[in-house]
Amino acid sequence: MPCRQLYDQTSSTFSYLLWDAPTREAVLIDAVFERHGRDRALIRELDLKLVAVLDTHCHADHVTGAWLMKQALGVRIGVSAAYQASNVDLPLAAGDSIAFGAQALEVRATPGHTAGCLSFVTRDRRAVFTGDALLVRGAGRTDFQQGDAGLLFRSIREQLFTLPEDCVVYPAHDYEGRQLSTIGEERRHNPRIGGGAREEDFVGYMRNLGLPHPKQMAMAVPANLRAGRPEHEPDQQHGDWGPVIATYAGVPQIGAEWVASHRGQVQLVDVRSPAEFDGELGHLKGSALVPLDDLRHRSAEVSHDSPVVVICQTGKRSALGALILHKAGFARVANLEGGMLRWRELGLPS
Ligand code: FE
Repeated sequence: MPCRQLYDQTSSTFSYLLWDAPTREAVLIDAVFERHGRDRALIRELDLKLVAVLDTHCHADHVTGAWLMKQALGVRIGVSAAYQASNVDLPLAAGDSIAFGAQALEVRATPGHTAGCLSFVTRDRRAVFTGDALLVRGAGRTDFQQGDAGLLFRSIREQLFTLPEDCVVYPAHDYEGRQLSTIGEERRHNPRIGGGAREEDFVGYMRNLGLPHPKQMAMAVPANLRAGRPEHEPDQQHGDWGPVIATYAGVPQIGAEWVASHRGQVQLVDVRSPAEFDGELGHLKGSALVPLDDLRHRSAEVSHDSPVVVICQTGKRSALGALILHKAGFARVANLEGGMLRWRELGLPS
């Protein structure tokens, strides 16, 4: 089954987007609030139909992106019923199944890191999403949120180590740059619970980790008990002046039709060469010419009073132009999707 591992550097969290190839129905596991734009762009660019956004557990180190995704795409939110969290559509328990197209995830209860931790196993048992129960050469800490090292030991041994040897382990975090593992590998080499480790070995190890509490914990846990719904509605980051869509590559883009009908409300910055500006394709009336090579040191010539639309021939150089201006402090800036070529194809007035 196709699967994308996505990473949030701030919290070292992995999110997973997996889908059924024929129907393109998809689920997203452990979405991160701040990465919502990225995740949504990837779903859009891969033409997927997201049916559910799942959390393996109530996280203490980041806020889930579940509620934002539900607002955007109307998908269902699934998390363990044990937390009694609000805004949840699928209160999950062991034995439940989450279907998407011809695929399904089996829900297994793997408590111990928290009381409601779940792992999700694919129908063919070739992959398991273990959350913070089993990590690559590690296991989720058990020193807060009803953590229980003995319970975690039994969860891993009975619910995860009973999966096939070559079943791929996809964890919710890694702090050492390791992306995945297998059940067989962890059964042999996990330093806390692999090999011949006994429950008292594991409990002793976990009791002495001596980790500081996550910085975001006081904010993240209550927010996650609302499935990531903010106490106050979030500010529109890009979209307050027009239908700006961020791509997976991180470029804010806007469509030519909208620009054509809102010419008076935006300033146009053309980043092509002077020869192209006055060449065959022509340029849009009122646009300012600032070639891309000069944009960094001439950004002060662009006004902050109105939103900026950046233009080139195909929308590639102007994409970088939009990112340069954004970095220079322009909050309201977007790339003209498809550039002058698209503008001309659509027969818009230049
Ligand atoms: Fe966690």
